[in-house]
Amino acid sequence: MYNKKSTYAEDFINHEEILETLEEARKASKDHQLALDILEEAKKAKGLDHRQAAILLLNEDEDVTKAIKDTARAIKKKFYGNRIVLFAPLYLSNYCVNQCVYCPYHQKNKNIRRVKLSQEEIRKEVIALQDMGHKRLALEAGEDPVNNPLEYILESINTIYTTKHRNGSIRRVNVNIAATEVDAYRKLKDAGIGTYILFQETYHKENYERLHPQGPKSSYRYHTEAMDRANQGGIDDVGIGVLFGINNYQYDLVGLLMHAEHLEATYNCGPHTISVPRVCPADDIDPDSFDESIPDEMFEKIVAIIRLAVPYTGMIISTRESQKVREKVLELGISQISGGSRTSVGGYVNEEEDPTSAQFDVSDHRSLEEVVYWLLELGHIPSFCTACYREGRTGDRFMSLLKSGQIINCCHPNALLTLEEYLQDYASPKTRELGQKVIAENMEFIPNPKVKERAGDYLEKIMAGQRDFRF
Ligand code: SF4
Repeated sequence: MYNKKSTYAEDFINHEEILETLEEARKASKDHQLALDILEEAKKAKGLDHRQAAILLLNEDEDVTKAIKDTARAIKKKFYGNRIVLFAPLYLSNYCVNQCVYCPYHQKNKNIRRVKLSQEEIRKEVIALQDMGHKRLALEAGEDPVNNPLEYILESINTIYTTKHRNGSIRRVNVNIAATEVDAYRKLKDAGIGTYILFQETYHKENYERLHPQGPKSSYRYHTEAMDRANQGGIDDVGIGVLFGINNYQYDLVGLLMHAEHLEATYNCGPHTISVPRVCPADDIDPDSFDESIPDEMFEKIVAIIRLAVPYTGMIISTRESQKVREKVLELGISQISGGSRTSVGGYVNEEEDPTSAQFDVSDHRSLEEVVYWLLELGHIPSFCTACYREGRTGDRFMSLLKSGQIINCCHPNALLTLEEYLQDYASPKTRELGQKVIAENMEFIPNPKVKERAGDYLEKIMAGQRDFRF
């Protein structure tokens, strides 16, 4: 039975509730007025529940779709302004004992060379990432208790945080590793991770089991309850997501929102981020073999609806998507993007000849600097800020800051200051010139005069070469 506060997977992601939600939404999908009423509700920026979101999703009226996108744009602007946080994935190991049918790292794939980075190789990758200007990483590794045990992940996190090159430092390591036990989550928390990220892939139990035929990940229940164990282990910033294209997107969007509602109801804090990957080509993976792929138009609508349903949750898009698609969804709700990514193990050092197959083919091949320049041209502020995490503003403390609207006096100046750091340390003269113009314009929008004055002082110090701040 549906119970969003239960910690049993099939209660909080209840199959019957999803089917009933979609059935009711189908019946209500032609009701223009109802959709407009829901949008009025969304404008209050208090979120929508999965039933309201499903009605918007299934409504095919073009005017309604336009209104959904307009409202999403307004909410994005209100809570996140024009900041876009940048990060890069770092692949540690492609050893994996699972058999996920959509992933080239699956155990049965004999075409790829298996590689696990040593601590010295990780240090080199980190230096390469620092020299690009990155401050925030998402750590990735396949599931393999022998080759990638927790101790290896913990040691790698320590290597990353302690590697310093010139003015570079990685200030936040988010971790995307397999579902694990409460004790292991506690150790990850103690190691200073930022967000623990785990994609559900699909919320449909039967299809989940078909897509994950063997290995520890094949347990739907264990996987779906991972965020509960993470919370019990003290991790209050968790990131969820589905892999769109491997299952019916309507089902998965409802499941995704139910998961967010469950976390909010049970731990008083919804997910810190939601990622929206779509299945894409890779070694021995043909996306056409999945018949649930979604066109760009629908993908944009999904991003907009997530923005309305969970206005306070960050949204992430990776280089799986092309520049064109990324450009469109940025304004609809995305708050974090990766840039200059390599999706193979050791790919930042061995740029020319990737030593292993990539986990997925990158569609956006631009360098980090090109991505920064593109964001600036579009009127966004590329942000390298990690201050909230460093100041302990995680979980519900971060959410209350966001809900209070105070973010403009906090994230906005920090975004400008970390951008200035990037411009000074890593950018070409052309990017620096444009970036500094954008910074000067945006300094004006810091409402609190004292914060504005302090930000001005910091800016001068950064330009004078000082780098000992906690952004
Ligand atoms: S998705 Fe993760 S768990 Fe599944 S095969 Fe790929 S690396 Fe392994």
